[in-house]
Amino acid sequence: MCGIVGYSGKQNSSKIVLEGLKTLEYRGYDSWGIAVQDKNQIKIFKEIGEIKTKLSMLPLPKTSCAIGHTRWATHGGVTMTNAHPHISTTKDFILAQNGIVENYTPLKNMLKKKNYKFKTQTDTEVIVRLIEQQTNKEDTFRDSVRGAFNMLEGRNTIIVLNSKQKENIIAVKNGSPLVLGIGKDELFLASDALAFTRYTKDVVFFDNLDLIEIKGNKFKIYDSRTGKEKKYKITKLNSKVEEVSKGKYDHFMLKEILEQKDTISKAVNYKLEEIKPLIEEMKKSNRIYITGAGTAGFASGQIAYFLRSISKVDILDIRPYDFTSYLPILKKDDLVIAVSQSGETADTIEVLEYAQEIGSTIACIVNVEGSTIHRMSEFKYLIHAGPEICVASTKVFTSQCVFGYLLAKSMVGEYTEAREEVESMSSELGEYFSEKTFEHIKGLVKKIRGRNHFFILGKDQNAYIALEGALKIKEISYKHFEGFSAGELKHGVIALIDKGTPVFTIISDDMCSKDLLSATEEVRARGAYTVGVGSSKFKGEECFDYFLPVVKGKGLSSIANVIPFQLLSYFLAVSLGNSVDKPRNLAKSVTVK
Ligand code: GLU
Repeated sequence: MCGIVGYSGKQNSSKIVLEGLKTLEYRGYDSWGIAVQDKNQIKIFKEIGEIKTKLSMLPLPKTSCAIGHTRWATHGGVTMTNAHPHISTTKDFILAQNGIVENYTPLKNMLKKKNYKFKTQTDTEVIVRLIEQQTNKEDTFRDSVRGAFNMLEGRNTIIVLNSKQKENIIAVKNGSPLVLGIGKDELFLASDALAFTRYTKDVVFFDNLDLIEIKGNKFKIYDSRTGKEKKYKITKLNSKVEEVSKGKYDHFMLKEILEQKDTISKAVNYKLEEIKPLIEEMKKSNRIYITGAGTAGFASGQIAYFLRSISKVDILDIRPYDFTSYLPILKKDDLVIAVSQSGETADTIEVLEYAQEIGSTIACIVNVEGSTIHRMSEFKYLIHAGPEICVASTKVFTSQCVFGYLLAKSMVGEYTEAREEVESMSSELGEYFSEKTFEHIKGLVKKIRGRNHFFILGKDQNAYIALEGALKIKEISYKHFEGFSAGELKHGVIALIDKGTPVFTIISDDMCSKDLLSATEEVRARGAYTVGVGSSKFKGEECFDYFLPVVKGKGLSSIANVIPFQLLSYFLAVSLGNSVDKPRNLAKSVTVK
């Protein structure tokens, strides 16, 4: 997690770094900080929490070189002392890190024995002290950084501002993302190109263990293990530069929910010829795995559902953090499909690295061009949802699911029908997103906001939708919402139902509807407050105390069923006064394990 930004060039460096950090806040918002190089000194500004300070209030001089960091704490509390960047004892350099130094305890103990003093509780400070130790041994500052970095275990990316050499930044990448932007007489470094795409789309992506040194507007790339200079390739990003603003909305979340009427169409804007290579690969693969974590994990479950039920594909849907027991049976002729919003999910990347090593084929369904997973994949599908800023994912989930639907339908010769279904759902959503719908959902919020435990029943095509619906609400309302398959109800969960417990039932017009109506009756008989979500055909059913009708969506009805939960999540969080776009303890891009 964490966002890193660096800049060297003709503009006011703290302005560029502040702007960059604001776009990267989705990566963490425990604290933030900027360090600028001012002649031979370093000036720092740090703050706890979200970025509230405006550029005009930033007590930093206008200079040409700076680094910055927005933190998602892994080691050490959310305090000013632990906020990055961290300065060296002699104030010769300052450093920010994205990642976890897994061997920080033995390193810290070793350094303490050598009399190095520690002020913070972070693992980051170990890197600072290691560089200090190396500066007494190595010829160049670059070699000191390199030497220190080579002692670290874990996925880490660091950025270092050196005060002794004009406009000198060194960064090293291993596991966590880093990209260089090349402008006219200016260079940008960031965890995500979004931080600088308004200035340049010419970028250099790095391999793990690459070290980049910036001196003014020149840069060189080295292999951090050998110290040898490396060649690099400049890539031009294709993605349109999207304006990252809330527009007329109070929160990114509402804006992103409403964007779904367009984003689902963009996600399937592929010609059949562009999908066919993946279909061919799936046909010839020995075994197909699909993997993703969090909301992307539920999207991968839903995609697997479509592939099994529509195109009879034998596919294993496994969370990356549970992949360990499958690794020994993963084969060269297997296909691994990775689903991720950011394309930087650490757990998923780890599975892909293993797959790469043994030669399995990798495909991806991601939202960020040039992200690690995108670059690792042979078959790459961008869902073109545009930047998703709210930490709780909405439009990316539905986009990934509709892409999966298109894939499954294309396999059985129903590409055109799938495209038409998405178009018709898109126009239905245009009407659905209305004040009337919002008021109806707000009415439900009033009835349930005082409760703390909620259950969502789904089955078959709606099983993963129940999990995603519950996750959405947990993430920003901090209420205990539990999604599970309706089939589980009588095997234990029903014991938790008492008078007034809100129970949601997701119901599509399919062969499971009777079971779901019975399950709803059963919880109602035990005092539950029942809410139906789904096809309006069931609106008049007596077993429901409240009903949230959903657009028809035809074969996509399961995907449509998640939307009322997104809206409920939003209105519930707003009514509780919670931070909607930046919920506590979370970050969007999970780049640490
Ligand atoms: N481990 C560092 C810290 O806790 C960086 C965390 C991160 O990359 O999210 O400050």
